[in-house]
Amino acid sequence: MNHQCTHRPMGRLDPITGLPNRMEFMASYRPKPGAQLVMLTLSDPKQFDELLRAIGHEHAEDFMRAGAVRLTEVMAPAIDIYHISILSFAFIMPFGAMPDLLHRINDQFNKPLTCGRIPVTADIALGVADCQDADAAFVLRAGLAAARDCRDTGRDWARYNRKTDTAHQRGFLLLTHLTSAIKADDQLYLHFQPKYDMASGEPTSAEALLRWRHPVFGNVPPAEFAPLAEATAHIHPLTEWVLHHAISQAGAWAAKGLRLNTAINVSPRNLARRGFAVQVAKLLNCYGVEPSRIELEFTEGVLVSNDPVVLEELRALRATGIRIALDDFGTGFANFSYITHLPADIIKIDKSFIQKITTDPRAAMVVRSLIDLAHELDYSVVAEGIESEKAYAMLKSWNCDEGQGFYMSPPIDPTALALKLNQAPALA
Ligand code: C2E
Ligand code: MG
Ligand code: MG
Repeated sequence: MNHQCTHRPMGRLDPITGLPNRMEFMASYRPKPGAQLVMLTLSDPKQFDELLRAIGHEHAEDFMRAGAVRLTEVMAPAIDIYHISILSFAFIMPFGAMPDLLHRINDQFNKPLTCGRIPVTADIALGVADCQDADAAFVLRAGLAAARDCRDTGRDWARYNRKTDTAHQRGFLLLTHLTSAIKADDQLYLHFQPKYDMASGEPTSAEALLRWRHPVFGNVPPAEFAPLAEATAHIHPLTEWVLHHAISQAGAWAAKGLRLNTAINVSPRNLARRGFAVQVAKLLNCYGVEPSRIELEFTEGVLVSNDPVVLEELRALRATGIRIALDDFGTGFANFSYITHLPADIIKIDKSFIQKITTDPRAAMVVRSLIDLAHELDYSVVAEGIESEKAYAMLKSWNCDEGQGFYMSPPIDPTALALKLNQAPALA
């Protein structure tokens, strides 16, 4: 393939493509002003995994070989191409000639590669990283991070960006630290934010919101770490922790005679696991909590998969008397038709709509119509993110059933909440 490869020791050639490999790159790399590394990834790893399953290892190797040939054909013969890892190739050249070349590479890879007579179109991503002050290991990692950005943003190519890279690295660290946080007893804790009946102003329930006091990063917001956990199997022990602590708190409130439901956020992934409803029932039993005292909040992601297990688990949960709420309603809208047959009781309109109702008449119209629509379909409606008396009054006049927001109370610790609810007069 690349004639220069033959002069290299065998251990430094990739056995599939015959190109110099990562070890050779590390040995020959020198930082150079003006030089740039281009990293090309042939496919998203998940898609490649599917390809492997569909056509087998042998043809998948053809895919890599064909990718290497295609790339070598576009490049000037004097440029060394390295096969860095299964799906990634790298080369170095000055930036001047680059934008044109990167477009040419994209063009060439629009034509399918042939894998044992099967045409497969590679979904390539191109990342560019500066070689001036970077050592070999860093420049490879930076190239890969840029290629990931390229894939995430759908652009033709992306330059290394320290900010997104730092965010990715922090995300990775948070994920690796989550397991020990779940086991430690001083890092995770719950705050509770009350919801109120809009008509009477009486508190109806309290939503458990997870907090993480990280020993190095300090307070990490759930909007940062919950989605990371949701993308991996970490979500299962994390949700178990939340269920355990929130239901135990619900039991303690019931024992004190506080008439308050407890709402718990659960990831769509939890529902895709058979036995979730049984797990919840066991915890309720263990803490002596009536199922009718529990609301489980899920996001629309639940419905995207159309997974029969998800629907079965939702129905099993509802059959026990637990109420199901669809959280952040209005932010997904992958397919609106699902709301006609959703196994849920409550729709929580996302705060991004509610926050605008006092200033944007069109947002107000949307929320008012959503409330009517949800009522027609027999859902109860909760507005989240109520930040002013005016917003509260508007939602009340539109017959919104329940409301939650900083105007009434931010999330607070359970002792403060019990105190607040015992002392405070009804809102209305
Ligand atoms: P969510 O379930 O939609 O929770 C509502 C979020 O809005 C909370 O943020 C709450 O503090 C915030 N909020 C409430 N009222 C207002 C308001 O008036 N104005 C504004 N600006 N914000 C308000 P938080 O606690 O940071 O949680 C963010 C998200 O993290 C949650 O959104 C939920 O998706 C996720 N999350 C939190 N706890 C858990 C958990 O235990 N498990 C899972 N899977 N996700 C969780
Ligand atoms: Mg929620
Ligand atoms: Mg929400």
